[in-house]
Amino acid sequence: MSLPAQIDPRKLALQGIVLEGKFSASDLTRLGDSVEAITGGLKASLRFSLDESRQPLITGEASVCVDMVCQRCLDTVNVEIKAEIALQVIWSEDQIANVAPDYEPWIVVDKIANLNLVIEDEVILALPIVNYHNIEDCTGSAFISQADTDLEETVTDSPFSVLQQLKN
Ligand SMILES: [Zn+2]
Repeated sequence: MSLPAQIDPRKLALQGIVLEGKFSASDLTRLGDSVEAITGGLKASLRFSLDESRQPLITGEASVCVDMVCQRCLDTVNVEIKAEIALQVIWSEDQIANVAPDYEPWIVVDKIANLNLVIEDEVILALPIVNYHNIEDCTGSAFISQADTDLEETVTDSPFSVLQQLKN
């Protein structure tokens, strides 16, 4: 089931709604620009509720698989990105000071807001800065030992052997 891109977060919080579903890669253009490729959709499970002072909250998790560049072998590595979601819906920046410490503010100035954009932001923030294959899956170490071998060959191949080949 696909998640709605546009929601009324305060109404959903009042109703205590749980939304579960996916955003397709085409809804996630900024994430797409930050990675090599999005492989599959973004899955999210989001619970809308009110805290004791009736502030609308969204909690849950989001995950998406993406291809990123392995910094050891410079090939692509598929990484599952998981983001914990803990948002408090506020009307304006003036209310940021009132946001509970475990929550991030989500400023929603109108009734309706784009759920895909805020969840995409959370996933982008969760992207690891550097990525590696598991060592057994990475060709990076093979690349290094190959380079060592090349170096040895260069040392043993003396210029005289090249001259010898030319003569032949
Ligand atoms: Zn690698």
